Amino acid sequence: MKFIETRGNDGQHPEKVSFSEAILAPIASYGGLYSPESLPDLGDHFLQHHLASDYKTLAKAILSRFEIDIDEAVIDQALSLYSQFDDPSNPVPVVKVKHDLYVSELWHGPTRAFKDMALQPFGVVLSSIAQSRNENYLILTATSGDTGPAALETFKNKKNVQVACMYPDGGTSDVQRLQMVTEDAANLKVIGVKGDFDDTQNTLKRLLASNTFKAKLKEKNIHLSAANSVNFGRIIFQTIYHVHSYLELVRQNAISLAEKVYLNVPSGNFGNALGGYYAMKMGLPVEKILIASNKNNILTQLIGTGCYDLRESTVVATTSPAMDILISSNVERILFDLFGDERTQELMTQLNEKKHYQLTGNELKQLQAIFSADFCEDKEGKQYIKDTFADGYLMDPHTATCFKTYDTCRDKPLKTIVYSTAEWTKFSPVIANALTGEVDTQDIDALQSIAKKAGITIPDIINELFDKNIAQKTIVEKKEIETEILSFL
Ligand SMILES: *Cc1c(COP(=O)(O)O)cnc(C)c1O
Repeated sequence: MKFIETRGNDGQHPEKVSFSEAILAPIASYGGLYSPESLPDLGDHFLQHHLASDYKTLAKAILSRFEIDIDEAVIDQALSLYSQFDDPSNPVPVVKVKHDLYVSELWHGPTRAFKDMALQPFGVVLSSIAQSRNENYLILTATSGDTGPAALETFKNKKNVQVACMYPDGGTSDVQRLQMVTEDAANLKVIGVKGDFDDTQNTLKRLLASNTFKAKLKEKNIHLSAANSVNFGRIIFQTIYHVHSYLELVRQNAISLAEKVYLNVPSGNFGNALGGYYAMKMGLPVEKILIASNKNNILTQLIGTGCYDLRESTVVATTSPAMDILISSNVERILFDLFGDERTQELMTQLNEKKHYQLTGNELKQLQAIFSADFCEDKEGKQYIKDTFADGYLMDPHTATCFKTYDTCRDKPLKTIVYSTAEWTKFSPVIANALTGEVDTQDIDALQSIAKKAGITIPDIINELFDKNIAQKTIVEKKEIETEILSFL
């Protein structure tokens, strides 16, 4: 399969690229993205055929339909990492929470958030492409908390790859920070930045676009790449768990084969939702994809009105920080898939230059045939956490936003799969507050009180973080980041 560009071709980039090329250099002509030229059709018998397949077998079958230029042995090695999730035979448990609401838990990997679903296999694939080309890569990441730990975990000690990971000092939870600063592999550099996430993110964007920075890397024989969620190497692994979760409902006798369901996704950069959209287009029986946001509700606006408007908006901090996003990058791939490259270029140019765009009535109708959206305020989310805990299920604040869309966005009584994107351990102060009213500033206090209240134990993998050696001690001003990275290399 080849990949083409969402904003058309500028005559300088190649018109089509392979999967590995799309991974190594993810930015296409006019700042666009690479998208599959066409999507494979799973076909009538695929779901039936894979009813008894385990996760890895299913994943291999789906990936083989994409016909990507990665050796089977590498794919096997990449997928074998799911065997290190809590239950090797079922890395993504799907739990019934109430009558027609099922939760698909995407956080049973090493860093306890759903970023592992894609980044774990992605690390193997990227490192193996770099090795086979005999090239060295620097992966730059900026994180508000979940991507950083997952990227470090996947690339640690991998050949031909080094990682520089920047986080806002004081802007992550204790657990998230400890997950990063206790990583001690020689190919990893973690940098705390004085400032907020936007400062960190802007520095990343500046470095990725800087020709002088790239020239300095070239002297060291290093190429620059990024592991953010616009990279198709991550998206491809996010189609799989949607198919798996559907099959899990069939196996639990909740639905019969071919019965339609709602997919209900907490969204920021729209990677998870895009994976669901691709799965639907490949033939998964999905009625609609419900998009949940927090107060940063730009997606609710887009799907409700067809208007994407950044003019009056600034990012506000919420209790679901991984969704505190206004520029939702993967929406571009939906626009491209529905309306083509010329129209996508037009819309993205308007967004860049005028800070807004408006879909036509017909375009909006097409969008609404697939998606429905709403947003959940922190106060409502807190109530959902509390009520759902009383019903016997403990969830994190990102997952909680989906309970709002479950209540407001469904117009048919169909089974609904809510995607849970983080374990309770990653956002414990918010959850402890919801359950008991206490206000904890330290994660360790919140973790202990939730464990006590719920009668569960804090997982070792989290508990151990508090006793580990701090290996990464760098905290710098924004302007010192570049020097810091170059001296690490
Ligand atoms: C990254 C993240 C999200 C948002 O996922 P997208 O694919 O960017 O929409 C939601 N919840 C958590 C916990 C995350 O880490």
